[in-house]
Amino acid sequence: MIPFNVPPYTGVEEKFIKQALTSQKLSGDGPFGKKCQSWFEKKLPASKALLTPSCTAALELAAMLIGIQPGDEVIMPSYTFVSTANAFVLRGAKIVFVDIRPDTMNIDEGLIEAAITPKTRAIVPVHYAGVGCEMDAIMAIAERHKLYVIEDAAQGMMSSYKGQALGTIGHMGTFSFHETKNYTSGGEGGLLIINNERFAERAEIIREKGTNRSQFFRGMVDKYQWVDIGSSYLPSELQAAYLWGQLENVNKINDARLVAWNYYYQQLKPLADKSRFELAEIPVDCTHNAHMFYLKASDLEERTALLEHLKSRGIQAVFHYVPLHTAKAGRSFGRFCGQDYYTTSGSERLVRLPLWFGIEQAAQQKVVEAILEFYK
Ligand SMILES: *Cc1c(COP(=O)(O)O)cnc(C)c1O
Repeated sequence: MIPFNVPPYTGVEEKFIKQALTSQKLSGDGPFGKKCQSWFEKKLPASKALLTPSCTAALELAAMLIGIQPGDEVIMPSYTFVSTANAFVLRGAKIVFVDIRPDTMNIDEGLIEAAITPKTRAIVPVHYAGVGCEMDAIMAIAERHKLYVIEDAAQGMMSSYKGQALGTIGHMGTFSFHETKNYTSGGEGGLLIINNERFAERAEIIREKGTNRSQFFRGMVDKYQWVDIGSSYLPSELQAAYLWGQLENVNKINDARLVAWNYYYQQLKPLADKSRFELAEIPVDCTHNAHMFYLKASDLEERTALLEHLKSRGIQAVFHYVPLHTAKAGRSFGRFCGQDYYTTSGSERLVRLPLWFGIEQAAQQKVVEAILEFYK
């Protein structure tokens, strides 16, 4: 059986977890947590990086920070994970979905402006498969209409747009360290990136249950107390220790994924050129992180047959998001603006192939052979 995903593990994580276990500090913002945050601040770079228990939590924090109120509208693609929408729905927002581009499955920047109303507060571009959205256009629209941009860069660590790290272009960016992403903090985890200084202080407070405990620890106040809304948004030191092991090997993981991604691309490109299926196109402005390799079959029926065929060959390939506007909650919390040309049809045709840090080329070759056999 060739699994779809194997959580990334480099071997050094164990050493750091043991170190954390004996350090008498297991709760959040310990030495490993701080090391990880400084690493992101330097590496991306970004003015502030805060580890969170998940990307979902980071999105919730972002929604609180921009002050989303009941009745506000937030624009995003329908082709995304539920948390992108839920974080804003929790604050009472109505979600306005727009169609995606067929080449990247990212929000179609050309359709955003038509979705803006006097109630619109934010745009949430999702960098699908770690391939950047057209951020210049999106930031220009946001500026023109005085809107916030929260990048859902859950899949985008180590990817960039015009040389700038994803997640550092909008007002804030969110990342995931879930075990299915390129880097994990031991199964679950996330990161909030703050690119605008004025959110930094309040972000620390909301993340610390609505208290000024971070300021207290820095000696800025003599006791900490309840000062704002907030929740429990710190991951434990064990999670940070695992993540530190991944960050020490950040290029090793990225390079290996890119090699695997390029292998699929080279092997499958000839059939894509004969229009048997479609492959992702990486725009010239984007450097990607090989988060995902997918192809698009001709239609739902062919996709179902292909998944069945791969399964019979011991290969676990999977489809992806059910468009949010067609889901039960999506219908009540949101609306689709404009025509759904590519969201539903693209989601029905998409197949993700096994890809993880450490996948062997022999396994990939089996996947390729099974696909070629199917299309013969
Ligand atoms: C994985 C993912 C999330 C959620 O991440 P968690 O860390 O599991 O909360 C959100 N948005 C997108 C686009 C994702 O791929």
